[in-house]
Amino acid sequence: MKDYKFKTIIEPFKIKVVEPIKMTTREERRKYLAEAGLNLFLVKSENVLIDLLTDSGTTAMSSDQWAGIMRGDESYAGAPSFYRLEKTIQELTGFSEVIPTHQGRASERIMFTALCEKGKKVVSNMLFDTTRANAEAAGLVTLDIPCAEFYHTMKPAPFKGNIDLDRLEDELKQNAKGVAMVVMTITNNSGGGQPVSMQNLKAVRDLCKKYGVVYTIDGCRFAENARFIKTREAGYENKSSREIAMEIFRLADITSISAKKDGMTNIGGLLAMNNKEWAQSCKNNLILTEGFITYGGLAGRDLEAMAIGFNESVDDEYLKYRLQSVNYVGQHLLELGYAIVNPPGGHAIYLDAKTILPHIREEQYPAQALTSALYEFAGIRGVEIGSVMFGRDSGDAGTGASANTKEIPHTQELVRLAIPRRVYTQAHMDYLLEAMSVFKGEISNIRGVRFTYKPKVLRHFTARFEWC
Ligand SMILES: *Cc1c(COP(=O)(O)O)cnc(C)c1O
Repeated sequence: MKDYKFKTIIEPFKIKVVEPIKMTTREERRKYLAEAGLNLFLVKSENVLIDLLTDSGTTAMSSDQWAGIMRGDESYAGAPSFYRLEKTIQELTGFSEVIPTHQGRASERIMFTALCEKGKKVVSNMLFDTTRANAEAAGLVTLDIPCAEFYHTMKPAPFKGNIDLDRLEDELKQNAKGVAMVVMTITNNSGGGQPVSMQNLKAVRDLCKKYGVVYTIDGCRFAENARFIKTREAGYENKSSREIAMEIFRLADITSISAKKDGMTNIGGLLAMNNKEWAQSCKNNLILTEGFITYGGLAGRDLEAMAIGFNESVDDEYLKYRLQSVNYVGQHLLELGYAIVNPPGGHAIYLDAKTILPHIREEQYPAQALTSALYEFAGIRGVEIGSVMFGRDSGDAGTGASANTKEIPHTQELVRLAIPRRVYTQAHMDYLLEAMSVFKGEISNIRGVRFTYKPKVLRHFTARFEWC
């Protein structure tokens, strides 16, 4: 019998527990925004209608995961929850050594301090900011070499997360001994959630083998990347995303993962590898800083939620819905005439504030202004990824109200709308699209912003602003 191909994307789950959303008026939001100094990190989440600040740790867990949480065993050592997680990860990655941590950045810190020699280089398609910070804190030098397509933000290409293989080979040819590891981030989070092709991942494996360099996968969004390979790369259309993910991990020597993304949990992370000596060094560091080797800074129930979540994330019905729903938002925004990083990534849409707000000068933080205006208009919380987050103060940053001088801006002014997993329905996304459609009429009235408080480090979290 022929199966009718329905075009409507439905959420492949039913809702058992609901969390009410508090409705607010524009007037109320204007007040909350002013109280927060135009910084959405300082707005209370209960005053947000649709929270697209991050997809990290914001996942809605399944009924199986919640059942697992009750089963979670809180024994200090040797809890069955750990062994269930270990088995899940061993099957998925092919790595025998599985080390739990409380979140991705702990995995990174342990990996870089336990396995890399100071002064060496970490070469990547693009390191995520905590990965870069941890590598640098461990005395390493970082180098991002994304592929050429990456630089054409608005021009679609299937695998804009790829590494530039020629530049990688040049690096390795010049001084392979000086390279501690090659890290492939899948998908490329800082680069718009863009996937890496299997061909690129394999070519990196070949180069790492040829030059004797460690191959690491930062696998935070491994499942979304696997699904992109299934739908975009020749030869993979008949494989399941799970099989593709299994193939990816088996190319590498080690993987570092935050379970708060495709692990489908609210907290957790891990390291996995085959090399027993490396594992021993990592475990020694883990015991010192995170906890014993069978819980790694987590409760037994968290390990149980991870053991189940890592299998749910590679389910093709879920991934189809996930990537199609993000794409749905992206395509409609393009139709409305918004400039976005194209094609849309796996977990987020990135609005290009410089193009959307051409009347706001770079020194007046267009992406920060857009983020604030969007919250005030419709209660939607995105995050600025531009000169507030990555710009630098060339002089003494100071902390005073007048510290608006000597800024070195970031090259891009983006607003990221990250979609939490399994949290919002199509109606929420349709609300977002309606809001963005009406919002177009408001854009020319949006003013730039200036700092009233400029912290020296990680300033986007606590900075305050006023409208110009
Ligand atoms: C989130 C993230 C990390 C860090 O993980 P945390 O759990 O937030 O510490 C590392 N790499 C990438 C690509 C990420 O997206």
